[in-house]
Amino acid sequence: METSEVAHLTQLLCDAQAVIKHQNTELTGLLESKSQELEDILGNIDQIIWYIDTQTLSLQYVNNAIGAIFGFTKEDFLANPALWQQRIHPDDRLAVRSFFKTLRPGVSQEIQFRIHRVNGEICWLNSRIYHNEKLELFVGITSDITQSKLQSEEIAFLAYFDPLTMLANRAKFKLQLHTRLEQPSPSPFALIYIDLDDFKNINDTMGHEIGDQILIEVARRLRELSDNDHFLSRFGGDEFVMFLNSAQPLYLSNFCAQLSLMFQAPFTINEIPFFISSSLGISMYPEDARNAEDLIKHADTAMHEAKKNGKNQLVYYHSSMQRAIHHFLHVESLIRDSLKHDYFELYFQPLVNAISLTLQGFESLMRLPHPIEGFITPDTFISVAEKNGDILHIGQKVLTQACDFILTVQEHYADPFFVAINVSAKQLHQVNFAHELLSYLKTRKIDPSFLKVELTESAVMDNIDIASRQLHTLKAGGIQIALDDFGTGYSSFAYLAQLPISTLKIDKSFIDSVCEVDSHSHIVIAISNLAHVLGMNVTAEGVETEDQFNFLVENRIDTLQGYFLSKPITKETIIQNLSTRTSFFVPEKTLAYSI
Ligand code: C2E
Ligand code: CA
Ligand code: CA
Repeated sequence: METSEVAHLTQLLCDAQAVIKHQNTELTGLLESKSQELEDILGNIDQIIWYIDTQTLSLQYVNNAIGAIFGFTKEDFLANPALWQQRIHPDDRLAVRSFFKTLRPGVSQEIQFRIHRVNGEICWLNSRIYHNEKLELFVGITSDITQSKLQSEEIAFLAYFDPLTMLANRAKFKLQLHTRLEQPSPSPFALIYIDLDDFKNINDTMGHEIGDQILIEVARRLRELSDNDHFLSRFGGDEFVMFLNSAQPLYLSNFCAQLSLMFQAPFTINEIPFFISSSLGISMYPEDARNAEDLIKHADTAMHEAKKNGKNQLVYYHSSMQRAIHHFLHVESLIRDSLKHDYFELYFQPLVNAISLTLQGFESLMRLPHPIEGFITPDTFISVAEKNGDILHIGQKVLTQACDFILTVQEHYADPFFVAINVSAKQLHQVNFAHELLSYLKTRKIDPSFLKVELTESAVMDNIDIASRQLHTLKAGGIQIALDDFGTGYSSFAYLAQLPISTLKIDKSFIDSVCEVDSHSHIVIAISNLAHVLGMNVTAEGVETEDQFNFLVENRIDTLQGYFLSKPITKETIIQNLSTRTSFFVPEKTLAYSI
């Protein structure tokens, strides 16, 4: 090759090199500016973008956002590629490491964990991480979710805690109970239902703020009494429920003794001491029930039983309560059915003048001949009807049938007589009871002297104001009043004597043993004397034997009633006997018949 040719080629090479160098510089510049541009874009978003080596987990790249979130600079992390791991909350480190181990190539997954910022604050992070197998990198985008995490924690707190007392609420308690019961073989435990007695009165009279303060103090004392083996909750209102990890009788009774001691100290709010008691109901796992709902329900039932027995006490649930509830519901449905189909039928038991042995009147007694269930006694249905309020409907039936009876008997019997109706507390406490009774008699054109009302002491004493007003209205309207089951109550007789009562009916329990028990015969004589001094009549109910009959006649009892004379009988029997002039009570002396 010629020299000139070589020189030319060398020149070409140099030129090419210069071009390449120039292009290289340009390309590098371009690359640098592109990576700066990328850096500017990535660096300015508030999520951390990063990648780490799949083998060593050391940081290869990270954008600026890491500085704002961790409080360290990006350079700190690049200088120490293990720094990011060191900042993970110790409780979450294992979870994060195992997460990387399970991350399959080609997919991205999310994980949430906590880190410590440079100032020690805890921060919640959410990372979506992609496993790039080809580059042997884990690539991630991480954001700060502390705020939303706290919010959801707050929501969770509100959903599960009672903000007033800071105790777990009903939902949390149930959850806890379910978790407990889901264990493979849960050990026995007890559930205590605590309800403050008469708390409503405090709220009503002192205001809700005082009420709230008391609830807070109750919660504080309960918390003080509880340890890790208990789970305590406010179920709502003034009800607290807790479970005890043991159902040992001794442990339980000790704990309950402490509970009742806890309530003995006054609750002092604004320097006013409040004395508050509580009613407690206990159910046990597994004896009483095996599921959460029933355990709670049974503890609640037992608590109500404690209330019914006079409050400030503890009652253990037992299955007889369950039976009592079933019985109640069954009788209730029978009552409703019978009211609808008009099965109730009033019977009448004669009341006889002890001296003349003539008919004075009748006590009306309700009967329920049910076509399917058979004959249901008043002792069964009256107590249920008094509780659920159906006694008001039954009372209507009594009045209607009693009036029908009076009108029919009047056609066959010329002498004066009365029909006594039994009136329950619920009826008496209806504000318009007396007025409505009188106006009903008016519509039926019946003289009020044909009607007598029998009331028990407790019906009168339950609400003395209303009762006394009703009695005066009845008396003014011409209706007589008898005090039923007399001698069994503990009311002040001095008070009762001021009421317009015309008759005392001595309770059957005294008559039963009047010939055998001296004290009973003395009581009967004393009541009789007292009544006469006060201008009242005396009736003895439940006279079953001739001896009783003779004793009562000798001791100036005015009126007698009982199986010895006659059982309660139907209207038809009485009318038939009256119309055929057949005696229907023994020992009958005279009967005045209308012609
Ligand atoms: P009470 O008012 O004390 O009625 C007297 C009860 O004694 C009646 O029972 C009557 O049948 C029964 N009796 C009468 N004489 C004798 C006797 O010689 N021996 C025995 N062993 N018992 C006798 P009954 O009819 O079962 O009524 C029970 C209770 O049910 C009544 O007690 C009353 O409190 C209530 N009751 C009955 N009917 C009505 C009603 O129409 N309305 C209301 N509110 N309560 C009623
Ligand atoms: Ca009665
Ligand atoms: Ca009675």
